Order: sequence, then structure tokens, then C-alpha cells
Amino acid sequence: MMQYVEGMIYQRSGFINGHLGFEDGIITEIYRGMCPGNIEPLAKGVVMPLLTNCHTHIGDAIAHGRKLTGDLESLVAPPNGLKFRILRESTPRDLRNAMHRALIDMLDTGTGTFCDFREEGLQGVELLKKAIGELPIKPMIMGRPKELKYSRSELSELLTKVNGIGVSSISDWDYSELEKVAKETKAKSKVFALHASERIREDLDMILDLKPDFLVHMTKGSNADLETLSENKIPVVICPRTNVFFKNRPNIKKMLSKNVTLVLGTDNAMLNSSNLFEELRVGFELANRTGGLSVSAEDMLIMAAVNPKKLFNATDHLNLGPGTPSNFMVLELPMDKPEYALVRGVSADKIKFITIGKSVWKK
Ligand SMILES: [Zn+2]
Repeated sequence: MMQYVEGMIYQRSGFINGHLGFEDGIITEIYRGMCPGNIEPLAKGVVMPLLTNCHTHIGDAIAHGRKLTGDLESLVAPPNGLKFRILRESTPRDLRNAMHRALIDMLDTGTGTFCDFREEGLQGVELLKKAIGELPIKPMIMGRPKELKYSRSELSELLTKVNGIGVSSISDWDYSELEKVAKETKAKSKVFALHASERIREDLDMILDLKPDFLVHMTKGSNADLETLSENKIPVVICPRTNVFFKNRPNIKKMLSKNVTLVLGTDNAMLNSSNLFEELRVGFELANRTGGLSVSAEDMLIMAAVNPKKLFNATDHLNLGPGTPSNFMVLELPMDKPEYALVRGVSADKIKFITIGKSVWKK
């Protein structure tokens, strides 16, 4: 049976005031004006596509809420940063439960797809799959070898279970080992990605020789680096809250001015909640801290709702339109210029309706 929602509907080109009809997990129509006839919509408000969280490490959700002091290396660098010690010390069951809760938080705050950089090799990937279970969220799983070295048998098995390989950074690895990992990943037509120039500037030529599909952070990238990424059409995932925690800062305005494709990620679950709207909020604030408005709310929303498909050559359309999956939410927010309310922080209670394909997550 056809069902409807009504209100300000997000489109890449701007919101339209209208109604959206959907049936059997597919959007069938979007038109201006109210629902046809006297049909009562399921929900009214701001209609947004579900967001894509392009960089998570939900394995460390178990440490969320712990007192965390120290620099980037002592907290999150492999193999002996606090995060890796906690991962080793926790039982699989506790890890799985903590991940499951983080995934529910994501769904509750309007994220429909997430890309996780899963640690702990094959075992880590299996655990994440168990944590997802029957949840309707769509995963992009980036596994990695258990240790910072290449093993043909480990990698070939891993590659049958993941969407791609996502490693820490060239600074953590012996480059020749990482080269073998990257080469084999690309040879199997899987996604390869890594953290880059987060704490210190790393050699972009060496990074690009690994043929990455996207990079994470680039907070310390030079102007020339950003231009190279733009020319090579390599998207960058920015994680504003993590950057702020470690006293880094993504220069969003500069990245956009160089035409770098940007997307957003909530990064380490031990530091940040899984609510991608928080990343939008902090990113928007950082980008406009110098006064005036240099990065618009529209530009920020594109990072969370439109650009992610460029990372995975996803066939899913993130923009809402007839024939696309009914992956959307309806929010109770001011209807006048909703793009600004959307980048000022949205909590789960503001989201009144969430549907993901054929399943209704919240109503
Ligand atoms: Zn990360």
C-alpha cells in the first residue's frame, strides 16, 4: 500500500515543500504540495535521506565514557595505544554488545550506512558481522591484517569477507609490507583506504602509489596535496570532533575551495557518539569560526547525504527520488530554511520517523 510523508523534502538542489509517496521499500513519487486526496501522511516535517557515516571504529565503543587523557599516539595508535589494549582485554561478547549499541545509536540518529575500519583482523570482522545481526543498517566493512604486516593467506581470506581494507597510516607500517596489502586488495577489486596526514604531514606521492579509493583526515595536508587529491578525484573523510579532541583542525573551507570531495565520519567510538549530526554541527562551527559564513549549511549537508556514494561507487541513490530505496527520516525542526537547523545539532528525539528499505525503524 502506498504511504506518504509530507513537508520540506531534501533535494540536492534545495528543499521542496511537498509530499513523498513510497511503497514496498521504494520511493514512488515526490511532488510539490500536500498529499493527494484526503490522505493523512504518516509523518510531517523535514524529510531527509538517511545519512552515511563514512568513518567509524565502532570496535572501541566499549571504551566510550572512559576517562581519556593523552595524545593521539598514546590513545589510538596501533599496536599499543590505549584503544588497542582495551580491545585485547575485552571479551568478544562485551565487544559485540558495545558495537550493537553503537549501531542502534546510529540508526536512531538517522544513519543508514556506515563504513567501519575494523581492527583485529578476521576475528574483528566476524565480530562486527555478529554485532550487526538483523539490524537494517547497511555496512561497508573495511578490515585490516591483525598485525602490521602482510600475510598472503590471511589477506586473501580477509578479502572474501569485507568490502575493502582500511589501515591506520603509512607512518605505522613498513611501506613495502603495506604496498603488498594495497596491491592485492586492488587486484581483487576491493576498496583500499587509509588515514593520511592526521598528526603530521605524510608523503602524498607514497600514499597515492597505493591507489587508495579515499583518505581519512588530511588535516596536515598542504595546499599542493589538496590540489592533487582534487585532480585525482580522491575523496577525503573528515572527522571534526576527533580532530578537535587531538588539537587538530580540518580546514574545511580550504578543502572545499580546492574542490576536494568531502564526506564525514564520527571516527573512534570511544571518543565520540555515533550521531553524525554532531559531526555536521562541529564541522559547521569550525568552518565558520572566523566570523561571517564561509561554508554554507547546504555544503555541509552534501557531505553527509550526497557525496558518500562517490566513495564506494554505490549504486544506491542517496538523493531522494522516484525509484530509489525508501531510506529516509522525518524530523521535527523549523520548516523555514531547515538546512540551518540540521547543522545545529539534531538529537534522536527530533527524528519522528525513520524507514530503511522495507523496514520501518521508527514511527
Ligand atoms: Zn580513524
